[in-house]
Amino acid sequence: MTNKDHTDLSGLCIHTVTTRPWDIEEAAKRYSAAGVKGISVWRDVLEGRDIRQTGEMIRDHDLSVVSLCRGGFFASKDHNKRSVAIEDNKRAIEEAALLGAPLIVLVCGTDPTQSLDDSRKQIRDGIAAILPEATAAAVKLAIEPLHPMYADTRSAINTMLQANDMAEGFNSPFVGVAVDVYHVWWDPFLKKEIERCGEKQNLFAFHICDWKIPTADLLLDRGLMGEGCIPVKQIRSWVEAAGFNGFNEVEIFSGSYWKEDQADFLRKIITAYKDLSNERI
Ligand code: ZN
Repeated sequence: MTNKDHTDLSGLCIHTVTTRPWDIEEAAKRYSAAGVKGISVWRDVLEGRDIRQTGEMIRDHDLSVVSLCRGGFFASKDHNKRSVAIEDNKRAIEEAALLGAPLIVLVCGTDPTQSLDDSRKQIRDGIAAILPEATAAAVKLAIEPLHPMYADTRSAINTMLQANDMAEGFNSPFVGVAVDVYHVWWDPFLKKEIERCGEKQNLFAFHICDWKIPTADLLLDRGLMGEGCIPVKQIRSWVEAAGFNGFNEVEIFSGSYWKEDQADFLRKIITAYKDLSNERI
């Protein structure tokens, strides 16, 4: 397996949320014109759209749909809410199939009124409930471990070890892991768990950005690669050594970048991506 070439933009994917002020048509047009080759689509940009046609529009721009974001949020003390989440995830699988997205990223969910263990059990049950549909639709599910600061309301899966344990438990080629540097860069077992993930061929996606110092907002102040303290290039080398040859997906939630001219921001993203291949980082 050969790794993506980083000397051009053929390995670069951008999440639609990164350039949130743009609708899907504008994002596809602009990314494509800039030479970007991959797009990960957030479900909000599909509202009111014919999803199949939107997928065709994206491919007409010579872009690969890398993933649909996002599914998950399985955990709740409330049985009805768990059922609603499962139905919503089944809808996400249908949307992914219509769009031509091979993968759904799962932000697994948690409920602070119960234990993290209970939330993890419900996550496991939720994935088990949708796995038949995902398998039938040939849509993969990637468990994304989230930084532990989100263990209160977003995910009870907070380390690569937990994500690997969960994914391996399904023993399915349709359940794997998404590595997002923002969430896992601090983990002393990161390299080891990336290697483990590679051995099981469970490494489905690689998301990049940076951790700004200081971080003004723990959700909406992600930085461009090179702007903070995450050793993105080193983590990428581990991911690639584990056999991953998919896209580098730029996923930046940033209240300040969203206020900028998005064409300028796109240029900055491309520069930051290219700089990752330089020796100085
Ligand atoms: Zn991510």
